[in-house]
Amino acid sequence: MSGIRQPALETPSGWPGAEKAKAPEGAVNAARTFYQPACLRTAATLDESAAPSPVVRDVACRSALGESRLPGYDYCLNPYVGCGHACVYCYARSYALRRGRTERWGSYVDVKSNVAEVLAREAKRSLRRGVVGVSTLTDAYQPVEATRRLTQRCLKILLENGFRVAIQTKSDLVLRDLELLAEYGDRVSVGVTVTTLDKEAARRIEPGASDPWRRVEVLSRSKSAGLETWLFVGPILPFLTDGGLAEILDVARSLNVGEVLFDRLNMRPGVWPSVSEFLRANYPELLPKYAEVFYGNDRFYESLKERLGAEASSRGLRYSFCY
Ligand code: SF4
Repeated sequence: MSGIRQPALETPSGWPGAEKAKAPEGAVNAARTFYQPACLRTAATLDESAAPSPVVRDVACRSALGESRLPGYDYCLNPYVGCGHACVYCYARSYALRRGRTERWGSYVDVKSNVAEVLAREAKRSLRRGVVGVSTLTDAYQPVEATRRLTQRCLKILLENGFRVAIQTKSDLVLRDLELLAEYGDRVSVGVTVTTLDKEAARRIEPGASDPWRRVEVLSRSKSAGLETWLFVGPILPFLTDGGLAEILDVARSLNVGEVLFDRLNMRPGVWPSVSEFLRANYPELLPKYAEVFYGNDRFYESLKERLGAEASSRGLRYSFCY
């Protein structure tokens, strides 16, 4: 279905936009302080752990569908608050911070245990049968969904009531629901986020998410099931994932995805502490470079835009930028 896509996380009302971020106190100096040459890195500095299981808590919600201001979307649905994928770059942590959630991102998930019942009531109202983004703040197919099945139940309600849905995920768990989605195929699109096809890098950056090649499998099987598919390539991490973008575009072409979207790393509140901690532990030589890209004058993303546009065009891909 054309026109259904999800470029980025929902921006809650009152949340500051993605205006150029100010350097957090001491960011550049901190980067320089922690800089180490690559030769000093040892295996012991690498984070080999997968994401620990988050603490899961049941909460009640008063509403299920929210209005969305994202392009192409009318509503958003977020059955979970927090995300067990624990991506180091996730800027939903900013939203959580604003609401006083200071726990480590990825360490908790609030489950809106009554969301399906609330949605079922809302779906009976005379709402316009528009496009619902599933999900726009966290991943609706994060690990807790395997047992709680709230996303599955909500999708069924939405589709049975005539809504269209656009799913965006980093999890192959969505394949569990492929039969349901295919039943309403003309009202469903499936988008997958891939930042890198390097499994080890993905495990470090997105420790709780599916292996990137499993995500590719999601696109492939969704396409075969007759669903519209799209690929979200972002956030592109300077000097870490930009080298593998051509390979990702080759995959997009081979899968004939409907659209490719590119996004930069959004340095919203809470993101720099997470990213800088990650770099310090894994790629310390990159700290000063990041400080220059995000708080200095490096025009990394502008240059990348030109290159990516050319690469996507040469492969005949429909594409757009979220920055
Ligand atoms: S999957 Fe999305 S919501 Fe979840 S941690 Fe990663 S970026 Fe954040």
